[in-house]
Amino acid sequence: MVYRYTGESQSGGKNWEQNRKLNVKNVVMAVFRCCQKGNHLDTSGCFQDTLSKKRQFFAKELLTPMTEIRNEFSWSKSRNEIFQTCPRQYYFNYYGYWGGWEPNAPERTRHIYILKNLKNRFTWAGEKVHDSIKHTLKNLQRGISVLDVDDIVSITLDQMRDDFRSSKEKRYLAHPKTCAFFEHEYEVDLPDAEWKKVADDVQTCLRNFYSSEIYSFLKGLPQQNWLEIEDFSSFNLDGTKIWAVIDCSFRTEDGVTIIDWKTGRSTTTDVSLQLCCYAMYGKEKWGVKPEKIKLVEYNLLSDQKSESTVTEGEIANTRTYIKGSIADIQSLLLDVENNVPKEERFFKKIEDDKIRDRCNFRKICH
Ligand code: SF4
Repeated sequence: MVYRYTGESQSGGKNWEQNRKLNVKNVVMAVFRCCQKGNHLDTSGCFQDTLSKKRQFFAKELLTPMTEIRNEFSWSKSRNEIFQTCPRQYYFNYYGYWGGWEPNAPERTRHIYILKNLKNRFTWAGEKVHDSIKHTLKNLQRGISVLDVDDIVSITLDQMRDDFRSSKEKRYLAHPKTCAFFEHEYEVDLPDAEWKKVADDVQTCLRNFYSSEIYSFLKGLPQQNWLEIEDFSSFNLDGTKIWAVIDCSFRTEDGVTIIDWKTGRSTTTDVSLQLCCYAMYGKEKWGVKPEKIKLVEYNLLSDQKSESTVTEGEIANTRTYIKGSIADIQSLLLDVENNVPKEERFFKKIEDDKIRDRCNFRKICH
């Protein structure tokens, strides 16, 4: 039988065992407070109550069979990129870490899990900008007033300072869901000015966003026109779940607009695959023809945006590409239906110093 696993993300960084102890403690404390208020005439009544509540707690919270957490196969642009970069890195990211959050996980599995969660300062900056904008847009969508840009910047920078301190102290070793920087784990010697530049870039991105025409437009968008804001959305391709996380989308007079926020300095990334995935999702989810879906890529750092649409032909090519990628990746599975991988050694290592230097897993990859 499979029992309930509450998971760290649902419990403020606490694991299953810590949660269980906390909940038992809460039940006992509730009864104790009840006694203090004089709700019971004698302690035996409280004791009975305690037992009854404990029994209910164990029956309801601990022994309720839940759906087993399964490592299901899905496809995403980033999954494909990791596989293309290095199959061994792919193995660590999608299989080697599995179960590393368990209190009794083997040491190497737990280590892989911690390394998987490392982020570098650039992805962290991007996440902070996305989180902040997502929060604002969700408020707009629900008709809740939005803070002043200075307050938003100040809150974001405070959060960044907290993240930085936490990672520098390596809290993530005991609490793997907290912020963990690649730069700290691998003791990259970075001058303070580099970190300051990252914070400055975040501030620039946010200020550009909150003074942009797009933001002014979104502020006036009727509530019924909003579609998705950073939802974990997916569509199905021949039985495989394909992820397409959309930063912002809304209905227009004759179709749908999807916006993708970019926060990096590079403008050379090929975004056609990503845009086609969005269009495929839009077609399946909202029934909108590809030519009616406008894709806007807005680089918040350079304050530049570009617009595009994709054609049915490009979507057909993308579909073929994704199917090929799925077949390549699944060729390293022992059991495709249950997403069981072959042994680690079958996932080839890439001997490239440039890739290795940036790889989260080099500590355990020998
Ligand atoms: S250290 Fe190199 S071979 Fe190992 S996972 Fe990273 S990139 Fe791949």
